[in-house]
Amino acid sequence: MKSLSDQFAAYMDRRKLNENYQRVIQQTIQDSDVQTFLQNNHDSLNQAAIERSASKLYEFVREKNKVRAGKSGLIPGYIPKLVISNGLIDVSYEPSAALIAQQQNTALKQRVTRVNMPKAIETASFKDYDITTGRKQALMAAMEFVKDMITKPNIFHKGLYLYGAFGVGKTYLLSAIANELAQSNIQTAMIHFPTLAVEMRGAISTNGVVDRIDSLKSAPVLMLDDIGAESPSAWIRDDVLGVLLQYRMQEQLPTCFTSNFSWTELKTFLSNSNKGNEPIKAARIMERIHFLSQEISVAGENRR
Ligand code: ADP
Ligand code: MG
Repeated sequence: MKSLSDQFAAYMDRRKLNENYQRVIQQTIQDSDVQTFLQNNHDSLNQAAIERSASKLYEFVREKNKVRAGKSGLIPGYIPKLVISNGLIDVSYEPSAALIAQQQNTALKQRVTRVNMPKAIETASFKDYDITTGRKQALMAAMEFVKDMITKPNIFHKGLYLYGAFGVGKTYLLSAIANELAQSNIQTAMIHFPTLAVEMRGAISTNGVVDRIDSLKSAPVLMLDDIGAESPSAWIRDDVLGVLLQYRMQEQLPTCFTSNFSWTELKTFLSNSNKGNEPIKAARIMERIHFLSQEISVAGENRR
């Protein structure tokens, strides 16, 4: 019995198709993937079926070569595959490994809401966090927090209050926590607090302010980045930060912070606003922070 490709060649010859077309079809049939497919499916394909499927074989080779050359194919991100359908050859398109990885990455990213956060820390991970003495305790606490969130999701866990000098990697570590939580389907909102404060002030006369705080306050994990770097304001302290933290505490929702200030320094900062010295109001905020987090120092070189 003649091989399928021989039969096909004979068919092409018989039809005396124009030379150009014949050349294309010849190249198609000689393609090693097509050859393998025809050999593997020798029993389920007859000559008529192959003849009728010529355009599909051609489509397969054309698309496959495009993908291989790094060009965008008929359906970007998908790779062609020969299949048998109703006794004929057809091309099915399957997502490429790169597309699957990209889709998973997008799903992960959607679990972290970042408001005014730098792009550079979006890919942060524990794996890439190098351990130095000044940073070890913070990394350990971060890993412990993630483990607790994943293994005991139904009880409250204190978040981290990371403090230390500018550029030591506090924000990076919080972002790494958010990414690790995303892997386990836990959603996080990360907010650069000083920018939020400025935006809030700009929107003071609109309802947008209330909506904004509302949408943030109930995030499964909330991270307030750089608190204490906003310009002092009684309104931001009491009606924005105070309201957010009160809610987090009542609902027992995990909350993390970064700051250049230790707890003691933050208390002093919060005591002094445009309305003068109000230590009791500062103490009230600090109580909520104490309830929600554990204070951890991060030290080391400035990495910027
Ligand atoms: P901080 O919040 O303490 O001021 P950042 O977290 O913003 O500091 O870190 C400062 C810079 O160093 C950023 O550009 C960040 O991407 C980078 N960085 C911090 N930690 C790491 C790390 N472990 N690996 C790679 N880059 C890091
Ligand atoms: Mg920071």
